[in-house]
Parts: sequence; C-alpha cells; structure tokens
Amino acid sequence: MNIKRNVLLNPGPSTTTDTVKMAQVVPDICPREKEFAGLMKGLREDLVKIVHGKNEDYTSVLFCGSGTINIDVCLNSLLPEGKKILVVNNGAYSTRAVEICEFYGMPHIDLKFPVDERPDLAKVEEILKNNPDIALVHTTHNETGTGILNPIREIGALAHKYGAIFTVDTTSTYAMRPINVYEDNIDFCMASAQKGLMAMTGLSFVVGRTAIIEESKNYPKRSYYCNLFLQYDYFEKTGEMHFTPPVQTVYATIQALKEYFEEGEEAKWARHTRVFEAIHKGLDELGFKDVIKRDEQAGLVVSAVYPNDSNWDFEKVHDYCYERGFTIYPGKISTTNTFRLCALGAIDEEDIVEFFKVFREALEKYEIAIPVKY
Ligand SMILES: *Cc1c(COP(=O)(O)O)cnc(C)c1O
Repeated sequence: MNIKRNVLLNPGPSTTTDTVKMAQVVPDICPREKEFAGLMKGLREDLVKIVHGKNEDYTSVLFCGSGTINIDVCLNSLLPEGKKILVVNNGAYSTRAVEICEFYGMPHIDLKFPVDERPDLAKVEEILKNNPDIALVHTTHNETGTGILNPIREIGALAHKYGAIFTVDTTSTYAMRPINVYEDNIDFCMASAQKGLMAMTGLSFVVGRTAIIEESKNYPKRSYYCNLFLQYDYFEKTGEMHFTPPVQTVYATIQALKEYFEEGEEAKWARHTRVFEAIHKGLDELGFKDVIKRDEQAGLVVSAVYPNDSNWDFEKVHDYCYERGFTIYPGKISTTNTFRLCALGAIDEEDIVEFFKVFREALEKYEIAIPVKY
C-alpha cells in the first residue's frame, strides 16, 4: 500500500512511519481476549522503561483519550482531602492544569510567571514554605505553546523538600528529550502515543510511583472515568483497561515502541536536535524572530513571530505549504501572533530543507519581503 507522506511540523500528532500506520491493520479482536491483555502488559512496562523507571517503583496506567486526560487524571486523583495543589505556571498547558483544578473545585495556587521566562525558583520555594498544606506540585516540562524548557529537576527537588509529590506534564518531551524519573525528581509524568512515540491518537498514559497510586486509594474520588487508582487497580487485577481501549492504536503504539528502542534514546534525541537546528537555520535565513531565548528552548518547538508586512497572511502561507505536504501551525502567545515549527515525528533534516524551499516559494508568491520585516 502506498500512503502519501506528509511532514507535520505542528505540535502533534506527528509524522509516523508506514510500519506504524500499517500496524493498525489487524484481524478484528475483542480486547477482552487474553492475547490482547498480554500485549498491554508489555506495552505498560516499555512505557516505564522509556523514562528509566524500575518496574518495582513505577508503573504506567493507560487511558483512552488525548493527552489532556492525563493532566485531569493526575490532578483529580492525587490530591488528599484538605490539601492544596501548586501549579508552577508559565504557559498554556499549565494554565490548562489550573482550569482542571477550578473545574473540580480543588484548592490550588496558580503561581504565574511570564510565558517567555523560566519560573523563579526562589518564588516557588517561598510559596511552598508558606503553604505547608501543598501536597502536589505540578508543572509542564516543555510548554508547547512557546517551546520553553522548564527546570523540572529543580522544581521537583523543591516539591520533595517540602513534602509534596511532583507531577509533570511531559507530553511534548516524553520519548524525545531524555527523561530519568529518579534524577529528574519525577513522581508522575505523562504523554500520549501520538507525540514523541510517533504513534496514533487516542491512547494516553501516566507513568508514576506505584506506592503513591496505592496510597491514593483513599483520597477523594472526583471522577468516575478518570480516576488513576481505579484504572490502575483494574489493570493489576485483570491486565485490561476498565473500559474499551483504542484497540488499533494499541497495536500501532506497540510497533512504535519497537521502533523507538531500535532507534535508541540517544540517536532519536540527536535526530530531533538536527531537525530543530535545521528549523532555526531556515528561519534565520529568512530573518524570522523567535519568542523564547535560544538557550531556554526545549529543542523541540520553535515559535516564530509574524512579520510586520501587510502581505503576510498565515492562512495563505499555510495552505500553500499544506498543498505540498507540509503542515505549519499558528499560535498566539499573549498578544503576539506566532506560528510554530516542531521537531516531533519521523522526520529528519532533509525534510526541513525541503520544507524551507516550499516556504520560501510561498513568501515569494505572496510578495512577502525577504528577509522578513519587523
Ligand atoms: C499536546 C499536549 C497536551 C495534550 O493536548 P491534547 O490536545 O489533549 O492532545 C498536553 N500537554 C502538553 C504539554 C502538550 O504538548
């Protein structure tokens, strides 16, 4: 079968290999069969291995849903009665975590920092010191809206110093930027199959400390479908998801994991880095400015500012590229209009070189000045 290859430069889902696409085409199977439960066991162990967790300390719990389900699950399930959540917030995804706290009516502190700066650790510590009832600290590793890399290791150390657990949204770094749950002081991290793993949409997972999940059995239950302990317990007892899993996505994820371990953590990160540098080179040559200081970027997402040119029209440029197999993604960072080019997915440097040929053609076609003006 010949499937058209598109280069997705949007922040997920990402470009997948044909072998991952084809892995979804399997004989029909009822997911309650032992054969299927067996597949999920290996999958759960591999997900822990990617972040260097030991199976005696960490487990993974799968959910059917997009990545946001993980944030929801972790926050609503891991807060003991009478305690508070601290969200270290410098972007859209941590703001989403704050909204989840609001929706469940969970006591929380929204510690806001500018979106183009790393959080001030002294302020984080001050809040922890003054609020001994904080039981959970949450932040985002790579704020995908801007591409800033947050100091999770340091934030995790502070959380632990003050007796709180640390949950991190690693959706846009997991299986790309190397993560070590021990060294990075992570109790819970998370991702969905469609980003770093380069699989399909519909499967998300939390990797976290088994002992804390077991302890959370007695915490207030705020959701029926999205409770971490209930899903974990069902897996442990039966090997299955509590409710219907995304069957074909599970097959694709297993293939993607095989390809992940074949490529290797280091080689994969080196490839993403090559792509990221090629994106920067291309943008620099055209004169685009990025939002986040280069040395504070996570190496996966570049946010470029719209040029100040009356001919600039993101939609037109997008459509020109899209028709030629390249997807770019718009975004707004506070009041600045931006677009994003991401280094996720089964792509390499040559794809970026090809992309910039097309992108330059689009700028020329619509008479946008090169180098771009600000
Ligand atoms: C993609 C992403 C999510 C999940 O978003 P969905 O729209 O639910 O897929 C969560 N956090 C981060 C940091 C992300 O990049």
